[in-house]
Amino acid sequence: MSNLLGRHRAVMPSWLSLYYEQPIEIVSGRGRRVTDSDGRTYLDFFAGILTTMLGYDVPEVREAVERQLRTGVAHTSTLYLIRSQVELAEQIAALSGIADAKVFFTNSGTEANETALLLATNARRSDQVLALRNSYHGRSYGAMAVTGNRGWKNSSLSPVNVHYLHGTDRDRFPHLSDEEFLAFCADDLRQVLATATATDVACLIAEPVQGVGGFTVAPDGLLARYREILDEHGILLVSDEVQTGWGRTGEHFWGIQAHGVTPDVMTFAKGLGNGFAIGGVVADGALMDALPANGISTFGGNPVATAAAKATLDYLLAHDLQANARRLGRLLVDGLRTAVEKLPVVGDVRGRGLMLAVDLVDPDGGAPSPALAARVLEEAKRRGLLIGKGGLHGHTLRMAPPLTLTEDEATEGLGILVDS
Ligand code: PLP
Repeated sequence: MSNLLGRHRAVMPSWLSLYYEQPIEIVSGRGRRVTDSDGRTYLDFFAGILTTMLGYDVPEVREAVERQLRTGVAHTSTLYLIRSQVELAEQIAALSGIADAKVFFTNSGTEANETALLLATNARRSDQVLALRNSYHGRSYGAMAVTGNRGWKNSSLSPVNVHYLHGTDRDRFPHLSDEEFLAFCADDLRQVLATATATDVACLIAEPVQGVGGFTVAPDGLLARYREILDEHGILLVSDEVQTGWGRTGEHFWGIQAHGVTPDVMTFAKGLGNGFAIGGVVADGALMDALPANGISTFGGNPVATAAAKATLDYLLAHDLQANARRLGRLLVDGLRTAVEKLPVVGDVRGRGLMLAVDLVDPDGGAPSPALAARVLEEAKRRGLLIGKGGLHGHTLRMAPPLTLTEDEATEGLGILVDS
């Protein structure tokens, strides 16, 4: 174990920061648990950063992958048709609620957002883009450009002109009522549009619940209010559903449905392949067709990944895991509110479905405390629970267990977290 850690430091770049002071080497997984090389088992409340949404070693997914591998075709490229790819695209298009939708597969959320930006800027012949403050959209040049927090970018250069909007910074305006805050945000957008350096703006890209931002929920109705104004200008709305898709938020299948609007474009990834690399874009067909037809991605829509994704989506729908996320999300957020919200080290507890966050603060003065978050993360791991951290100052504990979580496991995880 210590050898592996030493080797990691020798062969991987120093900027690839380690999450844990003493990272564990995971060797196997089953259900909602993983085992490390020392034989210790952990309940996983972060699900490979929200990817293993059905948990580990799911027979239906494994069998679908094995079936594809037994055909001898691990990959063909999108030059040819693959049944699971076509069926998956049909299913996602139908689930999207977007009229005449078409789907383009990628390997990650970053590429999905890059494709969405390409679609929107191409369709509107404009490099002006709106994004929310403290958003995170990925690692590539464009996706990073629309990321709204300097701390998560590794370049300040940008291929697009980005204007950041208020909306998920509700806590900075405690003197405003909910309605006043929405009016303030609408005003903010109108101001930005009035002063944008070009007359046309291509799109607004937004996460309905900011993931890396610390599971910050966009106030309900915000995106509807924005949509009204965007429509006056023909500006496209892109919903980044990379974290919020597939029912994780409990109340809705897509996070943006909480706002009662249908976007023009949605991007997705993370949980779809239950661990296999797949992402994509679902958009209005005319918009998709307007993109010059040279859009082949060598690995996007890989047949093993689409087989895994089709099996994952079928399982998710057959077992109504959205309802499970809603029920256990409530149980966990209520449990956290009761057990930890009043502790002097806790600044805030929030959640939507199985996206739950606790902000840790210095008990003297209430400043965000990333050091405390790191300590709790280590302590939870020592007690057998894996969680995530994040947020604006790295002071937010993030919990996003697989959607197959059971009530017993929810209670067990909650107990460990509270003790930690
Ligand atoms: N969009 C959101 C909302 C994300 O949270 C992430 C990753 O965390 C991405 C995009 C980028 O996805 P990926 O890491 O698969 O490239």
